[in-house]
Amino acid sequence: MSDSAGEATPGFSLEPSADVRDVRDWAHGFARDVIRPAAAEWDEREETPWPILQEAAKIGLYSLDFFANQWLEPSGIGIPVAFEELYWGDPGIALAITGTALAAVSVAGNGTQEQLFEWVPQMFGTADDIRLGAFCSSEPDAGSDVGAIRTRAVYDAAKDEWVLNGTKTWATNGGIADVHVVVASVDPELGSRGQASFVVPPRTPGLSQGQKFAKHGIRASHTAEVVLQDVRVPGSCLLGGKEKLDERLARVREGRRSGGQAAMKTFEASRPSVGAMAVGCARAAFEYARDYTAQREQFGRPLAENQAVAFTLADMATRIDAARLLVWRAAWMARNDKEFAQAEGSMSKLYASETATFVTQNALRLLGGNGYTREYPVERWHRDATIFTIFEGASEIQRLIIGRAVTGLPVK
Ligand SMILES: Cc1cc2nc3c(=O)[nH]c(=O)nc-3n(C[C@H](O)[C@H](O)[C@H](O)COP(=O)(O)OP(=O)(O)OC[C@H]3O[C@@H](n4cnc5c(N)ncnc54)[C@H](O)[C@@H]3O)c2cc1C
Repeated sequence: MSDSAGEATPGFSLEPSADVRDVRDWAHGFARDVIRPAAAEWDEREETPWPILQEAAKIGLYSLDFFANQWLEPSGIGIPVAFEELYWGDPGIALAITGTALAAVSVAGNGTQEQLFEWVPQMFGTADDIRLGAFCSSEPDAGSDVGAIRTRAVYDAAKDEWVLNGTKTWATNGGIADVHVVVASVDPELGSRGQASFVVPPRTPGLSQGQKFAKHGIRASHTAEVVLQDVRVPGSCLLGGKEKLDERLARVREGRRSGGQAAMKTFEASRPSVGAMAVGCARAAFEYARDYTAQREQFGRPLAENQAVAFTLADMATRIDAARLLVWRAAWMARNDKEFAQAEGSMSKLYASETATFVTQNALRLLGGNGYTREYPVERWHRDATIFTIFEGASEIQRLIIGRAVTGLPVK
């Protein structure tokens, strides 16, 4: 047997390794025993669930070690498997636990080894002294259109410092994080190709939290504006370093390739993680609706004995498994450095997030009036699910990317 590259493949298996199964069971135990019982409370409080973060840190689940080990897990599915379990517990609390990891990925993707070792540990802190990270790209006028970012980074050569000015919005952990990663424009004329990412170290003057948003779902996760007023950071806070940036900008100005392909690959590699979050949320709602309809009787029989109900459950289960398979494929491709020729990372995020909205909507309906009340968790999962179709590239943007990949055309 041979794969598309002509190399011999020893076999094919969808069976996670013993290590991955252990992590899955461990994360599931935490989700079942700690996250889920606390979910309704933190949804109502709409605050970062610090006591839960502390418990996660105590057992090593909120830690650099845990995320690094799963990120480096050989098959690639370490993160998706862990995320599915945590988000099965509760998407809002799970995002409070994993939001820092998303910020850390931006340092891993753009920074040097030195920067990685300096900043990522500071994003997590220790079990006794928890820290947070935030990734700040979106702006009021630059959401899907990241090329429109207005936050400016200007180099002060005399002091070897960068000066950042602008307003970021929708930042997960924005303003309460210890380390912020900020995407800013170095040369506005070059659009997204003239941008760079900067670390803003803890307690840097000029960075403040703006409005904190009251949200529809994932309310245990803090989302806020981040205001940058003459924020000065050392030259060493430019991710990747100045030499690399100058070379890249020179290439773009000369009309040569600018590393856009590398950036695209980084996004494709991180999208399955978001897909896995959506799978976890969908699975939670499916399981609840399955058990409810097996037990609730109308017309003298359990609801699930009606073909219309069973068919709905069948569609829900099928779509969840299909979504998970797309997520695992993309995560495996990322780990094995495969080319995402058909934007398979975007496919996984698109399909899983749309599945979460489909499944939670149907689950809510299968619970009837109960599904519409806050007495039952399906109502919360239904509110939570929509976010997966919005952040980290909305569904329409994923379709644009997939459309371009499969047609080879500059689809607008
Ligand atoms: C809870 C939450 C947490 C977030 N966390 C972060 C974070 O940590 N860091 C961060 O940087 N950002 C974060 N975001 C921002 C998020 O990534 C953006 O909201 C998202 O990219 C969409 O941008 P927008 O809200 O400006 O919508 P818009 O870009 O205005 O889009 C609105 C609608 O138009 C559609 N649309 C836009 N362009 C096109 C097109 N060309 N063709 C077809 N349809 C199109 C979109 O798909 C969407 O349906 C978060 C957002 C939320 C709500």
